[in-house]
Amino acid sequence: MYYQCTTCDFEAESIGDDVFVDCKANNHEILEMSGESTQQRRHRQEIAELPSDQFQEKLQQEFTHLKEVIEHDFPNRSFAIEVGLSVKAQLKIEGITQVFVLIFMGMPSTHKSTVLEIISSLEDCYVSDSFTPKSFVSHSANSKKADLAKVDLLPRIRHKTLITAELAPMFSGNPDDLVERFGMLTRILDGRGFKSDSGIHGQRGYSGDYSFMWLGAIVDIPHRIWKLIGNLGAKMYFLRLAADRKSTNAKLEEIKKNLKDDSYTQRLESSKQAIKRFWSFIENRAENKIEWDAENNSDDVFDKIIKLAMLLAKLRATVPTWHTSDSDSGGTNYNYEMPVIEDPSRASSAFYNLARGHAILFGRNYITNDDLTVVIPVALSSAPKERVELFKLLIQNNGKLTSADFIETAKVSRATALKEMKILNILGLVDESEEEGTTKPVKTIMLKNEFSYFISDEFKGYLRKLDYLLTPKNSKLSPKENLEKNTLSDTLDEHLGSEDTNPLPPSASLEGRA
Ligand SMILES: [Zn+2]
Repeated sequence: MYYQCTTCDFEAESIGDDVFVDCKANNHEILEMSGESTQQRRHRQEIAELPSDQFQEKLQQEFTHLKEVIEHDFPNRSFAIEVGLSVKAQLKIEGITQVFVLIFMGMPSTHKSTVLEIISSLEDCYVSDSFTPKSFVSHSANSKKADLAKVDLLPRIRHKTLITAELAPMFSGNPDDLVERFGMLTRILDGRGFKSDSGIHGQRGYSGDYSFMWLGAIVDIPHRIWKLIGNLGAKMYFLRLAADRKSTNAKLEEIKKNLKDDSYTQRLESSKQAIKRFWSFIENRAENKIEWDAENNSDDVFDKIIKLAMLLAKLRATVPTWHTSDSDSGGTNYNYEMPVIEDPSRASSAFYNLARGHAILFGRNYITNDDLTVVIPVALSSAPKERVELFKLLIQNNGKLTSADFIETAKVSRATALKEMKILNILGLVDESEEEGTTKPVKTIMLKNEFSYFISDEFKGYLRKLDYLLTPKNSKLSPKENLEKNTLSDTLDEHLGSEDTNPLPPSASLEGRA
């Protein structure tokens, strides 16, 4: 759609464009036209005809420009935009039918809704402000069966990007509701439609190719939901956005500045213009979906993607534990059942698709090491934070961690430290050994050989680069909060308030506690 002056033939995409100043002054008739303007058609043809090396170069420049604009308008948010676009771009690839769900996680100050709003200005996005999973296929008692098809969400988001800014209601409710809801979501996220039955309307639904992409936002995931996600074989991925690290005074100044400053709408508009401009290059490059050049994929990157998927499966596995005062529990007072570990092949294919979406942003139809930049933070954001933090601590210590190090660095009690270390052992990430301490043995965990990639300089390099995004420096939890969030067992919750909740003085030595 564009605008044209019937007298002078001037064309522009907006009626407010400078080109119409004289037309408006002289009362020329300006009409809204369907289709594309001469300029848009020329732009599209130019992009389509560029030789591929020139296209890649041009796309790089445009991407750099987009990132600069976002950084200027919304500092530290260009990476979130990059990950969001890597999700949306998957719709451009021939053969991708699996739905990729990416949920931005962070405090209100992280601008996660702004990120979603910027992306939603692109074509083929469907924004839903009050979303419930029941709306995919409706069984509303208030509507006649014939009218339900008009309200069903699934056909409307087919081959589009669904954008839901507030997902908290989806993750709340009683356990039975949650299990039913996630069971339904698990099927919808296969991208093959969904059919459901109700007493009022009988069976309704859709089958066939009903793939879509999904971007959402939430403040945080409650602990019991991580358990559910782990149990149901996931299909959901997250990106943690770091909370504001500013001091209270600095925050106060910023809020004061924002109150006086009415530029938010302007900044939003300039970011939207920049993203539309960038996306026009992706959109206009090819009329059809992009054929993947699997031959050109880096095998090495494939291996790393699979390792990340295996790591994630372990990090978000559920380990049922129960509290015991039994003397044969190894002194840790917890017993463990078999862990529930998701099949890493699903996450591998999801991560592969995310990497492919990222490659599209750089004009490639094959993956390289660069595409891991988006996969790694998503993998490390998609598991309970405390377990990820313990894993990172292990990496920083080159794969070897003693109970004393853990207690000291994470400021947790000896019981918590031993329990969490045991869990990593049960999950098959580490081997456990005991060394002689001064009075009592010191527990040591060692990262298993098969995960040695994660202590390589390359991986540590990625971690350092992404650290600012994943871990705000001021988020140290108190020992009690740490224990609560670390607890993967309802049974254990009941024992809060026992010896584990006594905060440890920072200087407490292991010998003294043992
Ligand atoms: Zn005119």
